[in-house]
Amino acid sequence: MAESTKQIKTEPGARQPSTEAQPPVESASPEINSISKTAGGVTAALTAARVAFSEMGVVRGTRTLLQLNQKQGVDCPGCAWPEPDGERSHFEFCEEGAKHVADEATYRRITPEFFAKWSVSELSQKSDLWLNRQGRITHPMVRLEGSDHYEAIHWPDAFALISRELNSLNSPDEAIFYTSGRTSNEAAFLYQLFVRQFGTNNLPDCSNMCHESSGTGMKEAIGYGKGTVTLEDFDLCDAIFVIGQNPGTNHPRMLTTLLHAKRRGCKIVHINPLPETGLARFKHPQEFWTWLGEGTKLADLFVQVRINGDVALLKGMVKRVLDAEDHRPGQVLDHEFIRSYTTGFDEFRSALTKVHFGDILEQSGVSQAQIEDAARIFIESERVIFCWAMGLTQHKNAVANIQEIVNLMLLRGQLGKPGAGLCPVRGHSNVQGDRTMGIWERPTAEFLNRLSEEFDFEPPRRDGYDTVHAIQAMHDGNAKLFFALGGNFLSATPDTEYTAEALRRCHLTVHVSTKLNRAHLITGKQALILPCLGRTEVDVQSSGPQFVSTENSMAVVETSQGKLEPASEHLLSEPAIVAGVAKATLDSRTTMDWDALISNYDLIRNHIEHVVPGFENYNERVRKPDRFYLPNPIRNREFKTRDGRAHFTVHPLPQIPLQSDQFLMMTMRSHDQFNTTIYGLDDRYRGIRNGRRVVFLNPEDIKLAGFHDGQMVDLISHFESEERIARRFTIVPYSIPRRCAATYFPEANVLVPVRYFADKSHTPASKSVVISIRPAADTGFHHQDTKSQRAS
Ligand code: SF4
Repeated sequence: MAESTKQIKTEPGARQPSTEAQPPVESASPEINSISKTAGGVTAALTAARVAFSEMGVVRGTRTLLQLNQKQGVDCPGCAWPEPDGERSHFEFCEEGAKHVADEATYRRITPEFFAKWSVSELSQKSDLWLNRQGRITHPMVRLEGSDHYEAIHWPDAFALISRELNSLNSPDEAIFYTSGRTSNEAAFLYQLFVRQFGTNNLPDCSNMCHESSGTGMKEAIGYGKGTVTLEDFDLCDAIFVIGQNPGTNHPRMLTTLLHAKRRGCKIVHINPLPETGLARFKHPQEFWTWLGEGTKLADLFVQVRINGDVALLKGMVKRVLDAEDHRPGQVLDHEFIRSYTTGFDEFRSALTKVHFGDILEQSGVSQAQIEDAARIFIESERVIFCWAMGLTQHKNAVANIQEIVNLMLLRGQLGKPGAGLCPVRGHSNVQGDRTMGIWERPTAEFLNRLSEEFDFEPPRRDGYDTVHAIQAMHDGNAKLFFALGGNFLSATPDTEYTAEALRRCHLTVHVSTKLNRAHLITGKQALILPCLGRTEVDVQSSGPQFVSTENSMAVVETSQGKLEPASEHLLSEPAIVAGVAKATLDSRTTMDWDALISNYDLIRNHIEHVVPGFENYNERVRKPDRFYLPNPIRNREFKTRDGRAHFTVHPLPQIPLQSDQFLMMTMRSHDQFNTTIYGLDDRYRGIRNGRRVVFLNPEDIKLAGFHDGQMVDLISHFESEERIARRFTIVPYSIPRRCAATYFPEANVLVPVRYFADKSHTPASKSVVISIRPAADTGFHHQDTKSQRAS
């Protein structure tokens, strides 16, 4: 280690906590098999059935799956890919969707007796998979100061405890109110109202960690931060570019959309550091007559870009588009669109002439021929859609990634015409809706004014903390109470040990949850788990059964209504929990009748209609079978920027220098995982079985570094003068560009520095972490035997 290097003691065993922030190292080595050639098919169908039936039973499982994503059914709690307008099949779900509902609707239960048996310290030594498998939490639970066990608490006492702690803070800004993307529109709207009436805008959310960069980049460039296309556009486009995204695992029903597009002759280009099976070949699981065949080849072109080589690649494509225009003046660029709707084109073109193609090739890691192939498909297609996900948004230069796509699309007027546009694909069912409802640490003055008018109070105007700054505030003692409406904050966030310490320093941590996760085990002095109804369950309030609503990736608002008996009679709905906390806390600071709002969610939607544009006649329109679309100004070529125009933007080629022994690492999901929820230890499409602590490396790099396949190594990340260590990962040779590495989160989150985030959007840069790799130190590390090290 260089003399000036500061070792951040982040590896398990380095500090003296009573509980473990990181999952234990698996005892067995993972099995490494060949990569799957085809996604979907009979395996996906059987896996969906097996998981659903084993957790829910055959009858209940079948009934629940048949309601999934149906009109007036249950909106899948998984990703935010939309369902088609018009007729739907009986099977509007994928393998992952089946896993999500089975996970929630499981028969397994965690009762107070479970918590009496297991101490928090003991639970923290269990794997994330084990924790999740224990089932649904049945009672509100409290961990009192000094105790190593959770014990049952009555709801009024839980609300009183939260109220006491909130009201004893020096300032409302000492409380953090986090939201996960499962929260419904109704719960999210009430929550932000309560938080603002309490007096703060500290409303970080999971969007801060995923598509914040998309929203920031698009808003700045085109005045609109959401996707500009609908599913219908996928029926009309000539080319679809899927960049920095693995739909086969993360948005599986998108493969059906791609399949239909492909069958009618649409070209598909996949740009990603790893080839992903879903985009190679796909068999629709419900087209059983295709099960025996080899599936449909989806991607016409796979461009294996280096990690964070996207800006370079996109600039290369832009250069080729401009070259083509030089050869065929007036036939390639959409001059009319550029003239009428954009600004900054001349500066953009002139800046690009200074970028050398040699640098583009080196930084993208892509051959000139492939860049030309991608550019040719783009130029020859009248209507193009660009889709992307976290592969673009979790870099220091993530906003530039998004804006380079916008630049390319503006050149040929690919916004505001049928069959063309931008499609940031959201990973959690209502992450987009929550933001629309006002879950944002930087609300606009317009939104706050309307809130003030509707509820007759003066909301706070100071910006609140986003996720990374909330963690730092808790760590530095500037925030003392953490409240999470859903999610697994500890495992979703970067810098695991730092974040754990931040949570431990709080006076109170509160989690509204359905199942046990690691965030419940790393607590403040006191902690509460408030168990809530799941999406699949009946929500009965005093006026009768209620439904909630969500907004998907394409700004369609629709209902979700559970039909199953709740997992326990002690559960409350998320809106009821928010109302309970608000009533107990706010006293004269609110004039709201919170009980009335909870008695009938139509009343909440009435308020939303008055505050949030686009929700006119909310109660009436959301009940219609065809749901409703929120306004999308880009479809009419209305660019709500300062000057009413779309902006070409100029960005330098990103530079992340690597020393000779260093790699650029990205974190990603396995196929048996949804966000931080671990369903199993396999990553079927990538050929990994029974293990998650793996590092995917290029075979040449493995050889050159003197490692061998299957070797156990430690990963060390380097940021400024700090080092962080993640122990005992198994090397997997894989098709990945040279000097790149890939690992799963949350295991590798410990390597991502909390202060390393995207410019402007502050999204953690989990996809471009500089690491070095060394043979595993023989610490014999696993949680059960590291107590002595930890104590020293
Ligand atoms: S594609 Fe997404 S929303 Fe649809 S069933 Fe699968 S996980 Fe659920």
